[in-house]
Amino acid sequence: MHLPADCAVTNTGALVERRYPEAPHPYRLPFERDRARIIHARAFRRLAGKTQVFTHRYSDHFRSRLTHTMEVAQIARTVAAALGLNETLAESLALVHDIGHPPYGHAGERALDEALREHGLRFDHNLHALRIVEHFESRYAEFRGLNLTLGVREGIIKHSRDYSPVDHPELASYFLDQRPPLEAQLIDLVDEIAYLTADLDDGFEAGILSLGETRAGIRLLEGFYVPMQVKYPEAAEKLVFNEALKRVLNALVDDLIDETRLRAERANADTLEAIRDSPHRLAAFSPAMEELRLEAKRYLYDHLYNAPELAHDHDEAEQVIATLFHAWVANPELLPQSYASQIEEEGAPRVVADYIAGMTDQYILGHYQAWTSRNA
Ligand code: MG
Repeated sequence: MHLPADCAVTNTGALVERRYPEAPHPYRLPFERDRARIIHARAFRRLAGKTQVFTHRYSDHFRSRLTHTMEVAQIARTVAAALGLNETLAESLALVHDIGHPPYGHAGERALDEALREHGLRFDHNLHALRIVEHFESRYAEFRGLNLTLGVREGIIKHSRDYSPVDHPELASYFLDQRPPLEAQLIDLVDEIAYLTADLDDGFEAGILSLGETRAGIRLLEGFYVPMQVKYPEAAEKLVFNEALKRVLNALVDDLIDETRLRAERANADTLEAIRDSPHRLAAFSPAMEELRLEAKRYLYDHLYNAPELAHDHDEAEQVIATLFHAWVANPELLPQSYASQIEEEGAPRVVADYIAGMTDQYILGHYQAWTSRNA
């Protein structure tokens, strides 16, 4: 059974509502307009200059946040289409899912969060993404932000986790006591598929992951590697690896589609209302695949994300972000006027974090070099 194709849209006027009402477009649907607004956003273009796992120092042909985002978007479309969901909503959510990430990947996010904690604040990239599309993007004369539909804004917040209404009263309009639409629930799992396979690819290419150890440590890879070796006995190792990796990706996608469909059927969740009222999220991998996926993920943490080869970049991220954060909080007159003017309302630490979070790797490094040469 496919979920009805219209369950995310036509039954649910609320999902396509905008904060500032706009006349319907003659031939583009609301989520198609949101997709265009996201792609045309400055914060989206800056994803090209932000680290996914490897900084540009390592290589120019590894994934950036932007190319990772495009991989997530195309997998999200495939899964949404197979489940009869709204492909454009899923694609829009995928395109926007990492827009709130600071420079230097997860090391940068950790450093910014630690700096904010000193002031009793936290950095959360989902909440920051909402600030970007609601406030920082400045394209329209009539309103601040991109005026995205409620469905996309809800998905930005809830695609990867739930927020408690007690801790986040400002998010009250996003149905915090309910599950998000399946299009949003899928994004985090599709993100997992995209980065797991991409990081194996880039990690192997970088020479950080060794083929023998990785095959021994990741059953999901080994299960496809052996038959590909048999099928292509003359092929170069990297091509056998690619054939296996492609099948890993397909197996994860197939499993996600089948398990999500199964859970939706079991819960009788064939309307958005039923999906929202379900006690748990319905998008999921099967238990057997989840075990294999977690094994692979743990392997990547131990052998790639925390590899000594990447330690230099992580140290740099910490150093650059902590130094500039403290410098600007102590000297807010150095901030651009558009940020400085927000300090009264938001406080310097939050405003400085907003400023830093928007930067690309190269841009923040330039600021760091300027600051350290002035203060040497
Ligand atoms: Mg991502």
